[in-house]
Amino acid sequence: MTRAPLQEVLAGQPRVLAYLERSLDAERADVPSRGGARGISHAYLFSGNAIVEDAALALAKALVCPLGGCPEDDQCVQCARVDHGSHPDVKVLEPLSATRGYLLEQVHEMISDAALTPIEAPRKVYIVKEADTLGVQAANALLKTLEEPAADVVFILCAPSADSVLQTIRSRCSVVPFSAVDPSAAESALLSGETPERARMALAIAASAQQAKRFLESTERQANRDDIRAFLASPEAPSDWSALSLAENLVARARAGAAGGEVLGDEEDDSLDEFLTRTARQAIEDRKKRAASATERRALAEAVRVVETILRDALACSAGSSEAPLNADATELVSALASRGRESLLAALDSCARASRHLNRSTTPVLVLQVLFLSLKELLWQPSAR
Ligand SMILES: [Zn+2]
Repeated sequence: MTRAPLQEVLAGQPRVLAYLERSLDAERADVPSRGGARGISHAYLFSGNAIVEDAALALAKALVCPLGGCPEDDQCVQCARVDHGSHPDVKVLEPLSATRGYLLEQVHEMISDAALTPIEAPRKVYIVKEADTLGVQAANALLKTLEEPAADVVFILCAPSADSVLQTIRSRCSVVPFSAVDPSAAESALLSGETPERARMALAIAASAQQAKRFLESTERQANRDDIRAFLASPEAPSDWSALSLAENLVARARAGAAGGEVLGDEEDDSLDEFLTRTARQAIEDRKKRAASATERRALAEAVRVVETILRDALACSAGSSEAPLNADATELVSALASRGRESLLAALDSCARASRHLNRSTTPVLVLQVLFLSLKELLWQPSAR
């Protein structure tokens, strides 16, 4: 049986992949006595900078999908819902307070929710992003649940390093350390024919090596990056109108890129049409819509990361860093932005982080991006920053 999402996300993490696959296999072989120690652990701590949150989502799919996780282009309802953040048994949590991390009531809510039986899937999965921001109080509230978990609950905590998580929490989890991604290996495996600079840029923007390749191959997503660069490069403050229409263009292209994939599917289906019942046809239509919107969402998340990587380069440049920039083709833009000052750049990065969070939930991505570009306009061209 293939576990495509897990294999794709963990392509650069063979040890983690082997470990998780063993657990899933053991779990499957062990169905009668479920909850046994050999199978899936009740709590994981995925630690590392690279892709831990993507890996957590891929594992969640493997746990709730009837097929053990579908390939991305051919998703079942369960997998698609996990991607959309709408699966009733897969909850993704992130700290609500920027300064204090997780709020106590967030943790209480999760604990009482975890006590309920799953709605659709065989188990419930809680992905706890930035578990290093669980403070002592929140952590204490969680301890008992981690110690005596319900048999059908799996917690996946994510943190940049195992040490950054409180010891009381860490000791109750199976710690899964991700190795730092070796960019040169990833780059060379990913792209023959691309320059190392372009590969580096794409890897910083996309969620995985596979996605980085798709990012570079997509004319729509490249055009989006060009437009963003042009917007940021404007010597005078851009008008509100240009901020708003940039957002509209990005969304329109993301949609066009997503629909491009759909056209192929339509041609394929025509020949089968007469064999399909109305329900089956509807199911195929629905699946295509979900797949398109997942692609659209990814393209927009990448657009926000384009802004983010450029701002990071500018921040590094203003600090006099000698590291190679992520956007080697935008040095002029980067040094122009670096002169706007650290405060402005940090505030602008904060707006990007907010936009990324909202994109995951929002049904109106164009609004999220419009807010982002309007606030970038205010932050990066404010009179005092000149
Ligand atoms: Zn599936």
